[in-house]
Amino acid sequence: MELHKQLKLVPLKISEDQNGSYIVKDIEKNEYYEMPKLCVDAIRLLEAGTSIDEVETILIREYPNEDINMTEFTQQLIDLELVANMSGKELQSSTKKVKSVKDSFAWITPRFAKLFFNKKMMNLYMVLAIFNVAFFLFKSNAVPQYKDIFITPYMFLNTLMWIVLTFFTILIHEMGHVLAARAKGLPTHLSISNRLFLVVVETDLTAAWELQPKERSRLYLAGLCFDQLVLSLGIMGQLYFQESSLLFALSRLLVLDAMIRILYQTAVFLKTDLYYVIENRTGCYNLQERSMALLRNKGNQTDEPGWLKYFGLLNMSGVFVVIGLGIFYFIPQIYFSLQQYAIPNLAKGSFYFWDGVVFIGQLILFVVFLIVALVTNRIFKKV
Ligand SMILES: [Zn+2]
Repeated sequence: MELHKQLKLVPLKISEDQNGSYIVKDIEKNEYYEMPKLCVDAIRLLEAGTSIDEVETILIREYPNEDINMTEFTQQLIDLELVANMSGKELQSSTKKVKSVKDSFAWITPRFAKLFFNKKMMNLYMVLAIFNVAFFLFKSNAVPQYKDIFITPYMFLNTLMWIVLTFFTILIHEMGHVLAARAKGLPTHLSISNRLFLVVVETDLTAAWELQPKERSRLYLAGLCFDQLVLSLGIMGQLYFQESSLLFALSRLLVLDAMIRILYQTAVFLKTDLYYVIENRTGCYNLQERSMALLRNKGNQTDEPGWLKYFGLLNMSGVFVVIGLGIFYFIPQIYFSLQQYAIPNLAKGSFYFWDGVVFIGQLILFVVFLIVALVTNRIFKKV
């Protein structure tokens, strides 16, 4: 690479982040990169028309303790497709496709969205969270039980009720993210896709990188705020409705559903919303990958912050939560529904019989799909 050459970069937007790092946005492609100040200084010099070797001379003078290698950095910029033109040679065509976040919720005005996400409301969600925990501490019989899903004598109806309720509470969770993004005037959209047999609803929060780190974490926290709201509604329903009523049973189901969703957030190893909140609060992006690298590094000298090694412990506790949910909720639910419902129903009259058949059929299908998913994943990973 000839160093006297000049680079023309694609349009970039640079904003200061935390811990001395910067967020560099490729405006046309809508992609974001975290870079240290040194790289940003180099980019600014290149943007001003300074040649590559001149940039190197300036940086060596300004950062005497750093290892400056502009050849390597230029190559990185080319690889990231951030160089539009090198000494007159086009590298990125100016007509490249502009990718932007679909703005499906532009009709939600920031003013309306701010009704849900402002300082006072954030405090309210906090108070609700404390109220919810306190409620379970003082009223231990209100803690959700695995049996809460068995509302009617028909498994088919029980499953259907749980699926419908879960669908709505997931939508409420996602609307939390959407409203928090709209409160900042950012574009966002919901995507509903399927990963094999699971329906996955996701909110696009790419535009969050436009914000300051603290505001960005609010966007990730927003789903959890709405989960707390749902949980409080369920608790209030339990306090308000008669214990034998259907509404009381549905309130309990709502509490079970919200509680599992909230506990699931602590499984940071699955890159849940809480994982991104921690990333943004600490300014340590790619936390998972960096903590794994630190573990493999085994005590050698690194520039990583000292607390990073404790992230492994947090990861571990997340694994225990998931195992706990399995042991105390999912496995007993499947066992109980087979032993108390589906199998005895097979011996009963017509509707009960078919209820048992449908449920067992669903379960077998679920297990088969799960095995297929695991096996194909393994095969694809090997390739
Ligand atoms: Zn979420």
